Amino acid sequence: MSEKKRYQPVDAMAFPRFEGIRTFMRLPHVTDLSDVDFAIVGVPFDTGGTYRVGARFGPSGIREHSVLLRPYNPVLDVDIFAVCSGVDYGDLPVTPGYLPESHEQIENGAAAIFAAGVIPVFLGGDHSVSLPLLRAAAAKDGPLALVHFDAHSDLWPSYFGGKDTHGTPFRRALEEGLIDPSRSSQIGLRGPLYDAADAQMSNNEGFNVVTGPELHRRDFAEVIKEIQLRAGASPAYLSFDIDFVDPAFAPGTGTPEVGGFTSAQCQELIRGLLGINFVAFDMVEVMPAYDPANITSLLAANLVYDFLSLIALQSQS
Ligand code: MN
Ligand code: MN
Repeated sequence: MSEKKRYQPVDAMAFPRFEGIRTFMRLPHVTDLSDVDFAIVGVPFDTGGTYRVGARFGPSGIREHSVLLRPYNPVLDVDIFAVCSGVDYGDLPVTPGYLPESHEQIENGAAAIFAAGVIPVFLGGDHSVSLPLLRAAAAKDGPLALVHFDAHSDLWPSYFGGKDTHGTPFRRALEEGLIDPSRSSQIGLRGPLYDAADAQMSNNEGFNVVTGPELHRRDFAEVIKEIQLRAGASPAYLSFDIDFVDPAFAPGTGTPEVGGFTSAQCQELIRGLLGINFVAFDMVEVMPAYDPANITSLLAANLVYDFLSLIALQSQS
């Protein structure tokens, strides 16, 4: 039997970071999923956007600004590629302008990755893509514990009469039984709402809710513990809408809300989630066109790096 291949980034001491074709973290672009533990997967679709669009360029923006990442994460004390074999799978096929068709393409594309036993980290795309991704994940492991960072609950029944937008994926996920709210948390919700009932939507559905203003006042360790207790040992899906972050740190997004969180706070929260049984991750709503100094893409790349560190640590345990 041949030894297992271990895919890892190009050695930055041998090849300067500005060289080569852009993949996430300069990983090999590989679509054969044998010998792969995790895969970075682009989902460049933004027809579900209701305000600004441009998240179709999110995957390429995040890849472009991931070249400075290094394999050893000192805070979590893990050398990712000493433990894991990781690749950049490229992008899933989509049909711009055609949401139902694209969601089907995304679900099918994601299903192939789950079937291979690989942990995917999806780069959106607008938040509507989480719905087909959850469909594929839940078909294998569902219903899932959702750990959802976002300024918005994305639980609205519809937008402009349309049932599938970036403001509705988790309403559909609930209706379809893809997620178990009693095991799920929504963190960072804030900003003006349509009416008082909006503020209760997540609580009414049984989610653990930590609003933005609450999170600013609370001890993070306590909040992390609450998320962990909620998720328990269930297969879990982490969905990170970059608008969880304050627009001062992440201006390049579709529906920015002030009063958010810093880069360092995001890192602290994600790193605290070690121990949850994550089967997939997504990073959505990054829009390079609204990101003048590329700080949003840079932050998204670094948060994805923390996802990879969690994957490495959970595969070790
Ligand atoms: Mn969202
Ligand atoms: Mn949002």
